[in-house]
Amino acid sequence: MDAGHRYYDAFPPKSTNVAVETRENGRKIAVVTKDVAAGEVIYKENPVVAVLDSDLQGLGKHCAHCFRSIQESISIQLPENSNPVQSTFCSKACLVANQSQSHNLLFTTESPLPAEIQGTPNTEASIEARRTAQEKFVTYVKKEGRAGPLLVARFIARQVALETAKMVEGGKKATEKNDFTDSETGDYLLADHIERLRYLELKPNPEELPLLVDILQTALPGLEQFVTDERHATLLGKMAYNAYGVSFGGGRDDKPEPTARSEDVEKTRTPYGTQRQIGSAFYTLSSYLTHSCEPSARPSFSTGTTELHLIANRELKKGDELTVAWVDVSKHDDESVIEGRRRRRIELARGWRLACGCSRCDEESKDLTPKEHKEQAAEEKDGSKVEESMSRFEAGGDPDNVE
Ligand SMILES: [Zn+2]
Ligand SMILES: [Zn+2]
Repeated sequence: MDAGHRYYDAFPPKSTNVAVETRENGRKIAVVTKDVAAGEVIYKENPVVAVLDSDLQGLGKHCAHCFRSIQESISIQLPENSNPVQSTFCSKACLVANQSQSHNLLFTTESPLPAEIQGTPNTEASIEARRTAQEKFVTYVKKEGRAGPLLVARFIARQVALETAKMVEGGKKATEKNDFTDSETGDYLLADHIERLRYLELKPNPEELPLLVDILQTALPGLEQFVTDERHATLLGKMAYNAYGVSFGGGRDDKPEPTARSEDVEKTRTPYGTQRQIGSAFYTLSSYLTHSCEPSARPSFSTGTTELHLIANRELKKGDELTVAWVDVSKHDDESVIEGRRRRRIELARGWRLACGCSRCDEESKDLTPKEHKEQAAEEKDGSKVEESMSRFEAGGDPDNVE
């Protein structure tokens, strides 16, 4: 049996009640491994990385690690010179987790290696170079106002933290409960997840990679080798395709209106709309949930943190596909059925280059004349090339046939 089959044997863990299956067209889907009642929580998952929306960073209203709402009186702040991103935390636990997973490497002058390993001693010049690189990157991130660059930077740092933690015997594990990064039994690593996930083909802003490289190499010379042009673009595309929007209680109304062209506005998977979220989060298992306008399940953040609870929308039988709504699929009062269908499908095309093939989309198109049908399809394609999102499998490098 090849490595790929072993991967999908071990992942997702049995405790999640989910298995990943391959459809005839090669696409992966998630199915439930037992009967589930409507309203039941199927699994709980913590993110690999999460980033607050740029207008909320630095306000101190939400924990930069778990997004929990916090009061000033109990918030934990870092010294200003080791916190250019102005992160605030709800608890010591979140502070420590965030520091060890990515903050220390990206935004402080502390060693990114576990305390047990002696790195090269810092000089005044190396500290200065690190600070300068970090400030430049943070200025860029603020100017861009997008989650992508920070998600990618934190993801790379997280991977470094997971790997370096293993260099120390009995070292503190860099995994968190239910984030399914590295398996307890050694069957998969974070890298195995990421190489299998679908991504959007994106053209990164050319300013971005040199800034990221500078942060990495000033923190630990050699780290910059992890991010080539191609890998950077792929990672950004993976975050863009798979990240979820986190919102509490239906979402917020005070997010500033995006200034980018509507085709270029960053989108996350959320049935409430990206405009109502407080931040973006990337999960391993939940990345496998496909979109449907009639979803069998929904993501819920009912604990008031980034912990995603997947809840069944209806009674599900063992083997049923798990789908969620990546966009707002509710019928709005001010639109007809056809207009609602059009709104959803344009959003899916823009955000994921996806032409939805769900039964609701089919059913609702019955009243369209052939001419209207053509016009709508053309409109969906406008500004986005539908079906150009891909996975490694389709890109030609099947990771499962490497052996
Ligand atoms: Zn927290
Ligand atoms: Zn649909």
